[in-house]
Amino acid sequence: MDELEFFIGIDLGASNVRVALADSNYRVYRKIKEPTVKTDSAEKLTEQVCALVRRVGGDRLDRVKGLGVGSIGPLDYRRGTLLNPANLPLGEIPLGESLRDEFNLPVYVLNDCTVAALGEKVFGSGIDCNNLFYVTLSSGIGGGAIVDGNLLIGKDGNAVEIGHIVVDLDGRLKCGCGGRGHWEAYCSGKNIPLFVKYLVEVYPDKFYGGKIRELIEDDNVTTENLFYLAKIGDEYSLKIIREIRKINAIGFANINTVFDPELIIVGGSIALHNEKLILQPVKEYIKQYTINRIPEIKITTLRDDVVLYGAIALAMHPPRIFKQD
Ligand SMILES: [Zn+2]
Repeated sequence: MDELEFFIGIDLGASNVRVALADSNYRVYRKIKEPTVKTDSAEKLTEQVCALVRRVGGDRLDRVKGLGVGSIGPLDYRRGTLLNPANLPLGEIPLGESLRDEFNLPVYVLNDCTVAALGEKVFGSGIDCNNLFYVTLSSGIGGGAIVDGNLLIGKDGNAVEIGHIVVDLDGRLKCGCGGRGHWEAYCSGKNIPLFVKYLVEVYPDKFYGGKIRELIEDDNVTTENLFYLAKIGDEYSLKIIREIRKINAIGFANINTVFDPELIIVGGSIALHNEKLILQPVKEYIKQYTINRIPEIKITTLRDDVVLYGAIALAMHPPRIFKQD
């Protein structure tokens, strides 16, 4: 027991911060989750993270060998600095530097979805896979990839911005990033309501009816409501879900065509809560759009902790790219 080394993982999101302690035998304990502090100061946020690290570290803090962070982006992974994330607009947040100064430990910061892929490889369903892809279908759409056993990072750490691939040649909808026709503009939690309104407006004969009409009239179009109505069998909601499934199938097909993974693991609240409506159709329709052999596609077993586990894995197994500095 005395020879054990310890590692701390941090999942920094716009809504929650999760921190956990693990040992070198891959045992994870002392998980803490807190709402991300509402503040206009980067220092306050950093203080919150430091306090959580101290809490999970407890009396083992002096045996901790490294900190891994999976963070919302964009970020500069070399400095460990967040670059004014859209959902956490605090300017530059030098999180890596602050944690290094505070704890005098190696600190590794990567994009949350990149880190999630590592979490699946080390703790999740991807243990035996050398080629795996993680997709999150959440308020946004993101991805991370292990390719031939290596975590894909890219020149700036943005290797798999999968939510911003073009899936609609006509570019009917505009994405939050400013681009047109991006996957995220149609199928993310934040944008599904805009897609619903678009379909209803342009094809009223097909989509404006049933409970969807009520949602529009009550100005109550949310992603949750759409999936709820589809689950209770509302015909018009199901028609809209069919449009979403077509675009999801194209997104997954492009992943398969480019990365040729053995396994695609899916997380994020939309997928976790709507496995039948989201994942089943993807499995059925992906064949229409990809030339590569169809991989296994499944929901993450790490659920909401996938980035947290990935952050621990990052602290334990930092990619070689960090050692060059
Ligand atoms: Zn975009």
